[in-house]
Amino acid sequence: MAKKSNRRKFIEKSLVSIAGVSGISSCISDNKEIKESSVNINFNNKYKWKMVTTWSPNMPVLGEGCNMFSDWVNKMSGGRLEIKVYGGGELIPSLESFDAVSNGAIEMGSGASYYWAGKIPSGQFFSSVPFGMNSKQMNSWIISGGGYKLYREIYEPFNLIPFVGGNTSMQMGGWFNKEINSFNDLKGLKMRIPGFGGKVLSKAGGTAVTVAGGEIYTNLERGVIDATEWIGPYHDYLMGFYQVAKYYYYPGWHEPGGVLEMIVNKDKFYELPNDLQEIIKKGIESLNIWMQCEFDSKNSIYLKKLIEEEKVQLRKFPRDVLETFKLKTDEVLSEMIEKDPKSKKIFEAYKKFKTSFDDWSTVSDKIYYEL
Ligand code: CA
Repeated sequence: MAKKSNRRKFIEKSLVSIAGVSGISSCISDNKEIKESSVNINFNNKYKWKMVTTWSPNMPVLGEGCNMFSDWVNKMSGGRLEIKVYGGGELIPSLESFDAVSNGAIEMGSGASYYWAGKIPSGQFFSSVPFGMNSKQMNSWIISGGGYKLYREIYEPFNLIPFVGGNTSMQMGGWFNKEINSFNDLKGLKMRIPGFGGKVLSKAGGTAVTVAGGEIYTNLERGVIDATEWIGPYHDYLMGFYQVAKYYYYPGWHEPGGVLEMIVNKDKFYELPNDLQEIIKKGIESLNIWMQCEFDSKNSIYLKKLIEEEKVQLRKFPRDVLETFKLKTDEVLSEMIEKDPKSKKIFEAYKKFKTSFDDWSTVSDKIYYEL
């Protein structure tokens, strides 16, 4: 027989590589870090779980998504796994979720890793870092770029399994009752901006103020604070900030892709048979996709509404302001990794992935958006 044609060889090679790739991808999506359950499937066994959340009860997208997840799990398991969802404060105070799930009093929780920064400083790299990765990059890093292994490692001492359970997508810079024309306008600026972003603002001459969610509107109205950030157009609209602050700034430099987190008690997870474990994992994966789609789709509608109906004045932060924030972010990050070797290790992996993704984005997304 004559030599195989090049086309034939290509097809055979492709088939081998497709098989190879699908083998690898099923390994990854099955998550090698999570061991198999030794519990036999018994369709008569029913499990009743509780989920505590850091969100106000039924909060749009965030709480709403947790309710949907519970419903999916119930249906997929034929009613064998019931998960009752509690809003923040309904069962325990929001910020006690971590300890309650860690010690097994509650099976699972929904929040964001930066809420536990006091216990796991390096966890902040799995929420959102100023000028850090956006939602697409975070998903790629954690799901396919080796990030998940590191994420699991830092929650291991707390007997917790973390999962990526959503993303707020790019947030907005916030609501200001005065214009920010240069970095000099940051001096003395009192802004409600938590976490990492708050530290950066303080270094840039402003004052980061902690205000409970329910009091932000009144504080902004009365001039107790000059500015606040919240999430994006949809949630900001629902909070009514456009009624008390004139300028709406972008971009959300401080939270470019806020990962939302699901934590599950490790012992409780392994007490479930394989099929229910898989239902939880796949349910959380679906929730991750839904939340991001919901945020982006609603934000685009509500941004238009804010501008056209509420006559909100949209402003872009001047370049020197963003450069100041960027410079101060580097200082905050350097101080953080100096104090905590785990943060250093994770930051290095994070930075390496981001650099490589940025190179790819330059010739893909970035250029496309500029067309
Ligand atoms: Ca925010």
